Amino acid sequence: MDNKYAKHFLMNAEDAKQYCIDKLTFFNADNKLACCEIGDGNINYVFKVWDENTGKSIIIKQADKLLRSSGRPLDLHRNKIEAEILQIEGKLAPEYVPTVYNYDEIMCALCMEDISAYKNLRTELLAGKTFDKLAEGITSFLANTLLPTTDLCMNRAEKKERVKLFTNVELCDISEDLVFTEPYYNYKKRNIITKGNEDFVKQHLYQDEKLKCEVGVLRNKFMNNTQALIHGDLHSGSIFANEDGIKVIDPEFAFYGPMGYDSGNVIGNMFFSWANKAYLDSDNTDFLNWVENSIAKVYDLFEIKLGEVYDKEVLFPFYQGEFKQRYIASVMADTMGLAGTEMIRRVVGDSKVAEVKSVPEGKVKLQMERALILTGINFIKKRSKYSCGKEIVDEFKAIVGDKL
Ligand code: ADP
Ligand code: MG
Repeated sequence: MDNKYAKHFLMNAEDAKQYCIDKLTFFNADNKLACCEIGDGNINYVFKVWDENTGKSIIIKQADKLLRSSGRPLDLHRNKIEAEILQIEGKLAPEYVPTVYNYDEIMCALCMEDISAYKNLRTELLAGKTFDKLAEGITSFLANTLLPTTDLCMNRAEKKERVKLFTNVELCDISEDLVFTEPYYNYKKRNIITKGNEDFVKQHLYQDEKLKCEVGVLRNKFMNNTQALIHGDLHSGSIFANEDGIKVIDPEFAFYGPMGYDSGNVIGNMFFSWANKAYLDSDNTDFLNWVENSIAKVYDLFEIKLGEVYDKEVLFPFYQGEFKQRYIASVMADTMGLAGTEMIRRVVGDSKVAEVKSVPEGKVKLQMERALILTGINFIKKRSKYSCGKEIVDEFKAIVGDKL
């Protein structure tokens, strides 16, 4: 029986059910199982298998050698990285990630807890829902998973071993191009600029040498600063939420990089939800107030919690006092610079977010995109100047003007 799984093959729903019986102890052989492929990403296949009588369920995420969306080859090592990091995060922040039940390195099949009770944050925010526990939850996840994986806290030899294990060449290559190069230098001709914004993009992104220098600094840091084990793709489609809290999934872009990349992605993506409603549903003051306060809160709480984890975990004498202040200030500056690069790349690059893509072409879309780009530029250029969350939300409000 086991021979069947001695070599990787891409499963279908029937295979996934059989796989559960053959390889896992989660169900019994006489359970009546059902299965559905629920993946909505571009990359992998996600099967939900459940017992039709009890409803008990499991998720199997399987990676294939070929990218789901384009058929392009992609290194299977990413799946091992995902399984390993979910387990590390599971120890550091168990409340915020699905439990891993099994990982099969040959089949590249990761079996984990079904978190379907939580919903895709991007889709929910686009539908106007608000989540009171979002800022608390995501900042605890960030502070608890990031700082303890640095060599301020970890054994330094063990940390270097982890840097090796989590060297994620192909997925980092995607970010290095799509986030840190192409929005400013369209050398692969993949940018997709909304008609009417071509000159704006040329002037504000392609021709701003000062901006390109600052993006270069962030790019270099992304590639060379093995600071913490980061999630690497913490956009609002990797966060699932409900009124009880949040769960974070999909860490296959994980590697040792600057921790501000994760916090920056969270904040950058929340601006898409805000911008979408500010331009399309400007009377919705409940949502607008909530999102504004939540963004400010994410910035403020992240800084506070980072300090708290720091006090508990960082014991080396040189790393106290002024060092701590400078370290956290530099993480917060990275956070804002990397929020800026995320905001820009999702508007002009080819991986658009629904909050931008779904806006019909016309004046409103052009204005909304410009506001996001200009805010992103300010975040990059002024990243070390902010001292609280209110200042970052005010940056956007000043650009959007009387819309808010
Ligand atoms: P990809 O790597 O292809 O982007 P994701 O990890 O984002 O895949 O998963 C795609 C979708 O599958 C998610 O948007 C979510 O709807 C569903 N999914 C993934 N993991 C789980 C889980 N543990 N529980 C419930 N649904 C999940
Ligand atoms: Mg995904």
